[in-house]
Amino acid sequence: MAAPSFAEHDGLIWYNGEFVDWREANVHVLTHGLHYASSVFEGNRAYGGKIFKLTEHSTRLKKSAEILGFDIPYSVEEIDEACRETLRINNIVDGYLRPVAWRGSEMMGISAQKNKINLVVAAWEWPSYFSEEARMKGISLKTSQWLRPNPTTAPVHAKAAGLYMICTLSKHAAEKEGFEDALMLDYRGYVAEATGANIFMTFGDGKLHTPIPDCFLNGLTRQTVIELAKRKGIEVIERIIMPDELSKAEEVFLTGTAAEVTPVGRIDDNTYIVGDMVNTIRDAYELEVGKTPAQNVDAA
Ligand code: PMP
Repeated sequence: MAAPSFAEHDGLIWYNGEFVDWREANVHVLTHGLHYASSVFEGNRAYGGKIFKLTEHSTRLKKSAEILGFDIPYSVEEIDEACRETLRINNIVDGYLRPVAWRGSEMMGISAQKNKINLVVAAWEWPSYFSEEARMKGISLKTSQWLRPNPTTAPVHAKAAGLYMICTLSKHAAEKEGFEDALMLDYRGYVAEATGANIFMTFGDGKLHTPIPDCFLNGLTRQTVIELAKRKGIEVIERIIMPDELSKAEEVFLTGTAAEVTPVGRIDDNTYIVGDMVNTIRDAYELEVGKTPAQNVDAA
């Protein structure tokens, strides 16, 4: 039996300013975005019909395109409105949105000076990135052989499709060995992040420690969590974290729009508790985004 496909779905997709049937929202095979990864995207979540940090996501989308050298022909406000309309027209209250912008088919080579810039927004219901069981007892990470690149090697602050090539490789390698996700180090060997989420940890001093996002995405969830921790009087230390410190950490968790606040129970041979810090931050985050207790039950 064929695997279920994201191409087969009922609904409407916002495509360059118009709504098209889900199954008709296609691109030609000779598309720059497909061949040369000139594509940037976002992942937004809606809770109770409201998209969390919508304008921040739309602003980041514009910025990511700019970093890749192209201009999305819609303003931040227009992208915000496209996201809201997509949610509304598909009757989604709690869901995930995927805006993606890419260079089209006008030039088919490395140079892409004349390519049209396309934008779509799709939305679907999607309760939890990791299973609820994994989220309760903590997911497992395996350290990847792939390193987050030097900022002079890749546009590391863009949410650009090309940067996910090493994430998929890392995640597949981890899954092959029974882990749920990969921990990625950076080009200097420092702890960086997971494949689609940032990382935080505690070392028994009541403080939160997290790597400095100088060669990977400074996630909006990461920024929210730092803000929430500060509001609660929890000190957050952004610093270089070396892999040999992972054996001394007590609690570890990931943050991301899709991952939300997900506890980590294991990295390679090191194990962690799902303790007070993870629970405090997770509760604060769920309150902040407007997630209701019923949604937590539904996600099981
Ligand atoms: N790092 C990577 C590689 C990601 O894909 C994401 C998800 N966008 C994050 C971090 C977290 O970012 P955010 O909290 O803005 O979703």
